[in-house]
Amino acid sequence: MIPTVVIAGRPNVGKSTLFNKLAGRRHALVSDTPGVTRDRKDATAQLRGKTVRLVDTAGLEEAAPETLFGRMRASSEAAVSEADLVLFVVDGRAGITPADEHFAAWLRRQNRPVLLVVNKAEGRAGANAALEAFSLGLGTPIGVSAEHGDGLADLMGEIADRVPDNSDAEPAGERPLKLAIIGRPNAGKSTLLNRLLGEERMITGPEPGLTRDAVAVRFTDADGTEIELVDTAGLRRRARIEQPLEKMSVSASIEALKMAEVVVLAVDALDGIHDQDLQLARLVEREGRACVIALNKWDAVPDRNAARRAVSDRLQTSLAQMPGIPVVTLSALTGQGVDKLLPAIRKAHAVWNTRIATGALNRWFEDALERHQLPLVDGRRLKLRYITQPKARPPTFIVFGTRAEQTPEDYQRYLVNSLRDTFGLPGTPIRLQFRGTR
Ligand code: GDP
Ligand code: GDP
Repeated sequence: MIPTVVIAGRPNVGKSTLFNKLAGRRHALVSDTPGVTRDRKDATAQLRGKTVRLVDTAGLEEAAPETLFGRMRASSEAAVSEADLVLFVVDGRAGITPADEHFAAWLRRQNRPVLLVVNKAEGRAGANAALEAFSLGLGTPIGVSAEHGDGLADLMGEIADRVPDNSDAEPAGERPLKLAIIGRPNAGKSTLLNRLLGEERMITGPEPGLTRDAVAVRFTDADGTEIELVDTAGLRRRARIEQPLEKMSVSASIEALKMAEVVVLAVDALDGIHDQDLQLARLVEREGRACVIALNKWDAVPDRNAARRAVSDRLQTSLAQMPGIPVVTLSALTGQGVDKLLPAIRKAHAVWNTRIATGALNRWFEDALERHQLPLVDGRRLKLRYITQPKARPPTFIVFGTRAEQTPEDYQRYLVNSLRDTFGLPGTPIRLQFRGTR
C-alpha cells in the first residue's frame, strides 16, 4: 500500500503549486483565479526514496456550502478520511484567518497526522506567519515557498519521516493499468468516470465539458488492480484551443488513447454507433490499444434486443480488423452494469499482454499452413518457415520464410484470424509482420 498524503487548505494558499512541486511535474493548472483547479488530483511522487500518493484538494470548494470553512471541509472530508498524512497549508502572507482556525479545529478532531505548512513564506513575511501558525495547535509549522522552492527539501524530509517505508511498493512489473475513456461528446464519459471512482471527484452535467482540467486519477478496483485513468475531459479543457466541440473532443480522445493501454469507448446506446465512434475504434486499433465498448445509457433504451443486435452488426461489418471487441451494456447514471466493466477491462488488458510460447505458436503455424495451402506468387509457391512473437502490448508476431513479405493480404488476414481464434485474442490489435529469408 502506498501511503496517501492529502494537501488541504483555503483556496489560493498555493496547494496546487505545492502539489506540482512535490510531484515534480506540472500536473495541476495553477492560476490566480480561485477555483481554477476544480478537480481533485492524484500523483505518485518519490520523496526521499519513499513512494507516496499525493492528493490535491484544491478547488472542490466551489460545489459546496456557503461559508469558506464549510467549503474547505466539504472538499477535504473524503480525502482526509483516507489520508495517512494531511498537509494543512496556510498563506504566510495573508496570515491566519478564521477559516484556517475553524479548519484546524476540525482537522484535530479527525485524528489524522497533520503537518502544518506555511506557504508563501519567502522573505520576511514568513517568520511572523510561522509564529502565528503555532496557535493553531497542529505542531511546529514548516515555512516554505512553493513558488520559489524554499524549504521544500525540508518539507519532503518531514513527509518522508511520517509515512511508512515502502521502497518496494511498486515493483517495475506492477505498474498501474492505464485506462482512458473516450467517446463523442455527451456519451457519458464524465458520468462513467465518476461511477468508476465511486465518488464525486469530477463535476458532470448536461452541458458537455463542465469538468475542469484533471488529467489522470488513480484508484484501486475491487480486485486490487491499480488503475490510472486518463481523463479526456481534462485533456479537452487543457487544450482549450478554438476548435469546434466535436473536433476538440476527438483530439482529446486521441491524446488520451496514446497514454492508455486499455481504451473504453463510451457509446450512447440511444444514438447507436456513429461513424465517429467507428473512427475512434479504428484509431484505437491503429495505435495498438486494447478496446472495450461501454454501451451506455442502457437504462433508457426501449428495445434492448434490437439495440444489441444493431451494435454487433455494425461492429461486424465496419470493424472487421478487430473482431470480438467486448461490449458491456451499462448505465453510468444508475450504476447498473458498471460492475461488469472493470472485469472486462482487466480481461482486455490480459489479452493485450498475451505472450504465446514459441512451441505452441509454431504448432499452430504448421497446422494453419496445412489447412490452407499457400498461394502461388508469380508462378512460384511461397514458403513460410516459422513464426516468433517478439513482443506483446499488443501481441506482435513475425513470420519468416522465403519471399514471406509477398504473402497476399487475404492470406495474412486468414493467419491473423486463425491466431485470434486459436489463442483467444478478441478485441485486441494483432500485428503480424512478414520477413523474407534467403
Ligand atoms: P490553491 O488554490 O491553493 O491551489 O492555490 P494555487 O496553487 O493556485 O496558488 C494560488 C496563487 O498563489 C498563485 O498565484 C500562485 O502563483 C501563488 N503562490 C503559490 N505559492 C506561492 C509562494 O510560495 N509564494 C508566493 N508569493 N505566491 C505563491
Ligand atoms: P461526456 O460529455 O461524454 O462526458 O458526457 P456526460 O457524462 O457529461 O453525460 C452527458 C449527459 O448524458 C448527461 O446529461 C448525463 O446525465 C447523461 N447520461 C450519462 N450517462 C447516462 C446513463 O447511463 N443514462 C442516461 N439516461 N443518461 C446518462
